[in-house]
Amino acid sequence: MKIRSFEVYILDLPTIRPHQLAMHTITVQTIVVGCVTDDEGREGWSEVATIGGASYGESTPEAIKANIDTYITPLIIGQDPNHFDRIMNDVAKLVRGNYFAKTVVENAIIDLAAKAKNIPAFELFGGQIHKSLPIAWTLASGNTEKDIEEAQEMLEKKRHNIFKLKIGKGDPFKNVEHVRSIKEALGDAARLTVDVNQAWDEDTSNYCIAALEAAGVSMVEQPLAAWDFEGMSRLTAKFNVPIMADEAATSIQDVFRIAKYRAGNSIALKPCKHGGMTQTKKVVGIAEASGLGLYGGTMIESSLGTAACAQLYSTISDMKFGTEIFGPLLFKDNVTVNDIKFENFEVIVPDGPGFGMEIDKEKVKHYAREFSGKQEMMN
Ligand SMILES: [Mg+2]
Repeated sequence: MKIRSFEVYILDLPTIRPHQLAMHTITVQTIVVGCVTDDEGREGWSEVATIGGASYGESTPEAIKANIDTYITPLIIGQDPNHFDRIMNDVAKLVRGNYFAKTVVENAIIDLAAKAKNIPAFELFGGQIHKSLPIAWTLASGNTEKDIEEAQEMLEKKRHNIFKLKIGKGDPFKNVEHVRSIKEALGDAARLTVDVNQAWDEDTSNYCIAALEAAGVSMVEQPLAAWDFEGMSRLTAKFNVPIMADEAATSIQDVFRIAKYRAGNSIALKPCKHGGMTQTKKVVGIAEASGLGLYGGTMIESSLGTAACAQLYSTISDMKFGTEIFGPLLFKDNVTVNDIKFENFEVIVPDGPGFGMEIDKEKVKHYAREFSGKQEMMN
C-alpha cells in the first residue's frame, strides 16, 4: 500500500448567518480540503479551516495549499499510509511549523489508513471512550436580543446548553454588559463562556474579568495576546474563573510552557493548531499530567473536519469544558453526503470507516476556488 497522489482544494462555503469574531466576521468560511489516493485507488479525505485569512493565525488557506504542494507532497508520495506517524516525523524534519498544512496531510492519510482496514479512525488512537460529546454553540450575531432568542431556541430544541460569546470586538465594557444581559435572561438553564480572541490588554482584563466572574461566566478564553504568557499567568493566579489559552496553545512546546508557568489553567484543543492528531494526543498528555482542563475546540470546520475532531476527542477520557465542534450547523451546505448528528445537547461521534464521512465530490468541485497541479507517483 503506497501513497500515489495528494491533491489540495480551497473551498469557500457560505454560512447561515454572519458570525462575528474579534478579528473577522464570517459570512463565507474558507476550508482547505486534502485528498490522498493509494496505488489501489482508495482515497482519504481531510479538512482544516482558517478564520479570516491571516487574522486568526499565520496559516492562510493559500499558504497551506502552496506549502503542501511544494514541500510536503513530494515527501509523502510512495510512502505507506499505515505508517502515518513515521511519515509525519520525516516531514517534520524538513518542514518547520506549518501546523495546519501538516494536519491536512496527516488527517487524509489517517482517513485512508483507517478506511483500508475498514475501521473508524479512532481505532488507530486507542479506541473510543465516548460515543457522544457535550457541544457548545457560539452566540455571535453581534446583537443582545438576537443572541438571547437564539440561545432560547437552542435550549428548547435541546441542541445546546453551553454558549460561548465572542467579545473581543468593540467596547469591552459594553461587551461585558452584553454578556451580563444574556446570562440574566438565560439564568441557570445554560452555562456561559466568553472568548476574547487576544483583544484586551491586562488592565482591561483585570476590570472585565472581575465583572464577568461576578456575572456568573464559567470560563474566559484568551483575553490577552498569544505571546503574553506572563500576563496570562497573572490573570490565572488572580481570578477564580478558569482562564483558557487558545491562540497561545499551539505546539506541544507552547502547551508545556503554559503548563509550567500556569499561563492559563485550561487549553482549547484544535488538531490543526497542534499539527495533526498524533501531536494533539501529545498535547492531551501534557494537559493530563499537569492538570490543565481540556476543551474540544473548533476552527469552524464543516462536516468532514468536524468528524475528524469528534473522532479524536472521543478518545480523550476527560474533556472538562466539553466541545464546540458545531461547525456543520453554521454552514448552509456541506461537502459530505452524510451529516453529523447533534441531539440532546451532544454531538454524536461518527463511527463509520475512516472519519465516518462520505465525500460529495461534486460539492467539492462546486465550491473549490482553484485546482492544484496534481502530483503523482511515477510508474
Ligand atoms: Mg478561541
